[in-house]
Amino acid sequence: MRLLLDLHPDSYPLEGFRRRQLLEWVFVQGAGSFDAMTNLPADLRAKLGEEYTLNPFREIETVRSTDGSVKYLFTLHDGRQMEAVYMPYLDRRTICVSTMVGCPAKCAFCATGAMGFGRNLTPGEIVGQVLAVAGGEGIAPRELRNLVFMGMGEPLLNYDHTMLAARILLHPQALGMSKRRVTLSTVGLPKGIRRLAAEDDLGIKLAISLHAPDEETRQRIIPTGHRNSIVEIMAAAREYQATTGRRVTFEYSMLRGVNDQLWQARELAGLLRGLVSHVNLIPMNPWDGSGFESSTEEEIQAFYDELEARGVDVSVRRSRGKDAGAACGQLALKRPDAVTGNIASA
Ligand code: SAH
Repeated sequence: MRLLLDLHPDSYPLEGFRRRQLLEWVFVQGAGSFDAMTNLPADLRAKLGEEYTLNPFREIETVRSTDGSVKYLFTLHDGRQMEAVYMPYLDRRTICVSTMVGCPAKCAFCATGAMGFGRNLTPGEIVGQVLAVAGGEGIAPRELRNLVFMGMGEPLLNYDHTMLAARILLHPQALGMSKRRVTLSTVGLPKGIRRLAAEDDLGIKLAISLHAPDEETRQRIIPTGHRNSIVEIMAAAREYQATTGRRVTFEYSMLRGVNDQLWQARELAGLLRGLVSHVNLIPMNPWDGSGFESSTEEEIQAFYDELEARGVDVSVRRSRGKDAGAACGQLALKRPDAVTGNIASA
């Protein structure tokens, strides 16, 4: 049995208007079974059901945060698990999806990093997160218009599957997302960033997890960072901008006493000179045994002011889903003491 969602929409197993009907059922209606596709002839539905499965997940659990975000914990067909996060805002709905089970980047302040690497997700397991969250929230899949590849995993190390997933998200007959509302976040892999720049039909946004302007600090918090120097990462970011003309976002998780010193803000501003960029400061989200704590609000403000005074475009990311273990860096398959519900029975 193959997962239908692993296919590019243009190679779905039907032709012409039958294919359009099938795509409409999967991505517009969010149909959970071939049997539900009532305008397809019964023999076609039966044949599809013999060869393909629609659902990448064996089980789905949810943990709801008091701020409205929902952590989705998925059990895949091989029993492995990973997570996505749904974040409703007043004016939009955002989903944060995983590209791997676990992560090989091993960032010291990230709970997923501490799990180590499990395996890559397939394109359908990535896209399936969107359909499952829409189903769980009782909305149409296309109502989820903003997506970030910022869950578990390093998307540029699962490059081909992530690119196919992005093409399915953007495909007008699939999820029809706008490329401006899809962001890929990477730990900073120059080769992958250059490859992404060359995918010109794609045009999704790029965010780079820099987290420190100096090698010593960066390698302390991103142990795999020694493979790619900050100089190389910045060179790749500049090339990316030269090729695509797009603004680059830099993520910077604020770790108290580690990367939040004002001299580091000044060095960061220096690195960004001449680049059209945006810096996103992320208060560190705590987890048991991380050994790091977040900078205080005052410290974050001082860092912000130092950057702003140097002309850097900067904002602070509001944390979502902290009490559900769903905030940045907390995804590690834990079920905190919040209301947990099994979708199947909800
Ligand atoms: N592998 C990708 C996507 C990962 S997570 C990447 O490295 O960018 C998205 C962001 O959350 C990254 O910037 C990551 O460094 C950050 N992050 C990880 N753990 C965190 C934590 N405990 N608190 C705040 N941000 C964290």
